[in-house]
Amino acid sequence: PRPTTCLRAFLRAYSSAQSPHALVFLEHRQGTIDSGSLSALTAAQQLGGPVTGLIVGAPDSLQGVVQQAKKLKGLTSVLHSTSAQYAEPSAEVVSLLLEKLLSDSSPFTHVVSAHTASAKSLLPRVAAVLDLPAVSDITSLEHDSAANSTTFTRPIYAGNAIATVRAPSSVRIKFFTVRTTAFPAAPSVEMEVEDKAVDPVQVDQPLTEHLQTLITKSDRPDLGVASRVVSGGRALKNAETFESTLYPLADVLGAAVGASRAAVDAGYADNSLQVGQTGKVVAPELYMAFGISGAIQHLAGMKDSKLIVAVNKDPDAPIFQVADVGLVADLFDVVPELVKKLKE
Ligand code: FAD
Repeated sequence: PRPTTCLRAFLRAYSSAQSPHALVFLEHRQGTIDSGSLSALTAAQQLGGPVTGLIVGAPDSLQGVVQQAKKLKGLTSVLHSTSAQYAEPSAEVVSLLLEKLLSDSSPFTHVVSAHTASAKSLLPRVAAVLDLPAVSDITSLEHDSAANSTTFTRPIYAGNAIATVRAPSSVRIKFFTVRTTAFPAAPSVEMEVEDKAVDPVQVDQPLTEHLQTLITKSDRPDLGVASRVVSGGRALKNAETFESTLYPLADVLGAAVGASRAAVDAGYADNSLQVGQTGKVVAPELYMAFGISGAIQHLAGMKDSKLIVAVNKDPDAPIFQVADVGLVADLFDVVPELVKKLKE
């Protein structure tokens, strides 16, 4: 299937033969575009050409989201598509729509998204069907319009090395996911860009069925975007001590709570709080690590934080190698005293 002539005309108005034209997959939840998608938009703008946003969702659910998208700085047009199958969009279903939008006559030269669980599944799937490569988790990019090539950097080996990867001109459409902590979120502006509805592509008998979404509810800031994070490790002993020790500090600082994998595996903290290679990657203004040894898999998720404070009983703990402020002490003495002083 190909985009309709009408859609081609709409997109052509924003494209020129020389310039790159990015399609950014904008994810949203509860009527708001995810902040990670706003960072992906900032990355897409750095290509230097027009940027079209793509939003999918259930019928009657997208009005507010499309309105929000139309005001995003850096977007030049918005495409949206509704279908009951897009209520909880799976890669299997949305990939068909993307394949249609990326047909041979498509103006798009780049497909961009945040490095989220769903996009990590969607983009490589579409790229593979189109026999194109995909670059994941990029932290910077540079587009050479004359050579029509894009060069990316991306962390590898749990952040211990940075790979530079080039997608040359022979790659018709360059797919990449963006490490959201590496790019600021695109702000909103007063002006509105044009939007256009595109027909969904239905899957007759999807092989996967969405049963349930469980969202962790918390009054605290979201770990992924919080400017301050208070994190605890195995030293916190159990779930009760984890909560009674760290939560008062998080409350007084207005911070999100994080945890090492050892703390999560031992059941002290919810899975969603895990920071690290197999958890969330965060880069807050302030990261406080209590009773965390600093294994490389943990550092991979927090070492880009602006100010790292570590409290550990062991002076040789590896966390001190990345800490800006380190205190060799018992966290059970330090944290209550810190809370008291901060309250004063
Ligand atoms: P420990 O290593 O046991 O450290 C506890 C620390 O607390 C010690 O340094 C100790 O000196 C200190 N301590 C003890 N008592 C006190 C006290 N009273 N006051 C102050 N300090 C005290 N880990 C992650 O965190 N995130 C990941 O995403 C992750 N992904 C992984 C992926 C793979 C493939 C693998 C193999 C491992 C992964 N890990 C991850 C696990 C990682 O290797 C470590 O095992 C884990 O980070 C250790 O957690 P911890 O620092 O809480 O525990």
